[in-house]
Amino acid sequence: MTVSREEAIDLLDKLVRIDSVTPWLIPGGAGEGEVATFMKHWFEEFGLDVIIEEVEPGRPNVLAWLRGTSPGPTVCLSAHSDTVGYANWADRALVPEVKGDLMIGLGVADDKGGCAAAMLAVRELVRTNTPLAGNVLVAMVADEEGVSIGTEHLVAHHADEIDLAINLEPEGSHVIFGEHQGFGWIDIIVHGVPAHGSAPEKGVDAIVHMAEVITRLHRLDTTTWTPNPDPRNGRTVFHTGTISGGTDYATYPNKVVLGIEIGTQPGERLTDRVAEIEAIFDEVRQQEPRFSGEVQVRLDRDPFTGQGNEALLAALADATEAVNGTRSPVTGLNAWTDAALFQEAGIPTVLFGPEGGNYHAADEWVSIPDMIATTEILRQTVATLLAAPVHSAG
Ligand SMILES: [Zn+2]
Repeated sequence: MTVSREEAIDLLDKLVRIDSVTPWLIPGGAGEGEVATFMKHWFEEFGLDVIIEEVEPGRPNVLAWLRGTSPGPTVCLSAHSDTVGYANWADRALVPEVKGDLMIGLGVADDKGGCAAAMLAVRELVRTNTPLAGNVLVAMVADEEGVSIGTEHLVAHHADEIDLAINLEPEGSHVIFGEHQGFGWIDIIVHGVPAHGSAPEKGVDAIVHMAEVITRLHRLDTTTWTPNPDPRNGRTVFHTGTISGGTDYATYPNKVVLGIEIGTQPGERLTDRVAEIEAIFDEVRQQEPRFSGEVQVRLDRDPFTGQGNEALLAALADATEAVNGTRSPVTGLNAWTDAALFQEAGIPTVLFGPEGGNYHAADEWVSIPDMIATTEILRQTVATLLAAPVHSAG
């Protein structure tokens, strides 16, 4: 049995129409409260035990339990219910549109397509009366687009109850991710000495010194990171994000702050990147003795390296072959997801999800057929992992 196209479109349409912009990114954003209430009622309609856990006011996780027919491990299907903002969308963001095989709307792929696939997969397990030796926990978490307070809360309070996790993010059911990059948000701060414009012997120009740092960072990227991509996780992420500094036209700038996003490959830590930035400071100081710089790490997320997830990978790959006709390979990703937090909590984890595009931009889309395929792949994967022993008569 497979969910119909109408059922898939209907649920996803409803999820997208509920504003759940993360207030971490967009102050005043709606948060996940309303979508969590909708999900709770939806799960309760077919008998799941549902709890809402308020991580912060207006920032709930929804945990829906399908209890097995006999004891066994618990498989967690997890997706995030928040979205980025919709400044790029005019007024179309929350009005999903179906064009052929695509649905277009805010968060339709990232990650409400993943939410819908997990929700529909667990409902199919109920509808088909599949005997399960173990439990399914569907976790719809808050704030992945912010700083992942939802998954942090989930693993802090429930890691002991979860044996395996499939984290759903939209990359397409033709590929399975067993690892991905980590990343850091780092502020690079260069200090100058403020002085009257007529006093160059007193002033130290923080902006000119920062320019030297930026030039060298860019060179490190073009000579080291870009030409040497990780075979599975791609080029190490690096880009500048924000810059601010100086006080006025008439004064030597006292300070510049550059915000960057920078990646780490499995086996690396953010401290490796910080050491490279500090080596750049030393270089600039040789040329500009009055240079003064410091690094402040704002967010540090380790890479994801799946461990102990062999049974999960095998069941998932078998299901992709059964549903899609081709076996999805296991590879890595040049982005970070909550999968890293599950694995860090000791839960064997894989990353998987329906195919989409234009994430965090206007005209974000998801493939409806691939969302339906993902639903069926999840259903089969859980049924395999929690296969109840067959009791024969006599
Ligand atoms: Zn996402």
